[in-house]
Amino acid sequence: MSDLSLRNVRKVFSRTVAVRDLSLEIAAGELVVLVGPSGCGKSTTLRLIAGLEIPTAGEVLIDDKPVTRVPPKQRDVAMVFQSYALYPHMTARTNMAFPLRMHKTPKEEIDRRVTETSKLLGITPILDRKPSQLSGGEQQRVALARAIIRKPRIFLLDEPLSNLDAQRRASTRAELKALHKRLGITTIHVTHDQEEAMALADRIVVMHEGAIRQTGSPMEIYARPANRFVASFVGTPTMNLLDGRLESHEGRRSFVSASADGVQLALDHPRFDALGEVGGREVTLGIRAGDLSPTPSDAPHALALQIESIEPLGDRMDLRASRGNDSLIVRVPLGHSPNAGEQAKFRVDMDRVHLFEAGEFGKDLLNIAET
Ligand code: ATP
Repeated sequence: MSDLSLRNVRKVFSRTVAVRDLSLEIAAGELVVLVGPSGCGKSTTLRLIAGLEIPTAGEVLIDDKPVTRVPPKQRDVAMVFQSYALYPHMTARTNMAFPLRMHKTPKEEIDRRVTETSKLLGITPILDRKPSQLSGGEQQRVALARAIIRKPRIFLLDEPLSNLDAQRRASTRAELKALHKRLGITTIHVTHDQEEAMALADRIVVMHEGAIRQTGSPMEIYARPANRFVASFVGTPTMNLLDGRLESHEGRRSFVSASADGVQLALDHPRFDALGEVGGREVTLGIRAGDLSPTPSDAPHALALQIESIEPLGDRMDLRASRGNDSLIVRVPLGHSPNAGEQAKFRVDMDRVHLFEAGEFGKDLLNIAET
């Protein structure tokens, strides 16, 4: 049974289609992350679930009951926004107690829940401070606590970590994940940060221009991006994507880049057999930076690349490399790096190469062929 269903939901603001015919089923207790570039419709989707927007078409169901026109207060959802929106004149304690007071919860019960929830979020020592006396991270915890204290059926988080510095963001997302495990509340989390999505989600929903481009576990989305858009959006560094065409000579397939003196790669791995006749077909070759590894000169499936520059990253290095007019990033462990200005050969892991149909939303031809 789904805790939450969106069925062909569409939202149009004057002439902007913010959400287009979006369908999604979310199971009880799931932590789903909506991720996508700015303006792709993530916040609008969340607001439609919360009841802060009414869809132009389609239905929202909670617990299999239609709630499309039910006001936010009756939906049993709690939402935390990017701007924590704490009441500035109230202490952390009174901010937390506020939603319970609104529901006319008895005072003893409020005190008990404030104590319990503030322990859970590690904010007991700051309960009597006002928001202006709290750091961004502390304000964010109080905002989470104020949402959690109601024990909502569904928890909606709209970029709750984006005001935090990088270190605090990483630690807070780990805490959020642990908190979700402990409480088991169905959670929908919105972010534009694909790393945050990968780290947090049970399931990722990748959105673009109001539509879902792929849903799946973080590893599915990373290892088997369904199309070129998802491939380019998920993963750090961004997947190397090279436009070109497939060629076939005497039964041997190869990829030939469209760039002058660019990458050429023999596609003689059994994975490519299912492609069938390929001559002249326009495609995009996708290779993750970590799927290129330094290799001796005569290895099969090796690319000779010119090393342009080297970025040390502590335990590994990113090499910016080129072949003719093609640019690639190669991620290598420490101690395996050639010098900038040199030529070096890198073996392509042919088990992990992607081939997309031409165009921004070109499908992964190999995954289609496999399924
Ligand atoms: P961001 O990451 O920048 O917050 P988002 O993915 O959450 O973006 P939305 O805020 O859902 O995107 O906006 C989707 C589209 O709908 C955008 O083009 C936005 O300008 C438009 N939009 C959102 N709310 C309104 C509104 N109230 N009136 C008119 N247009 C709106």
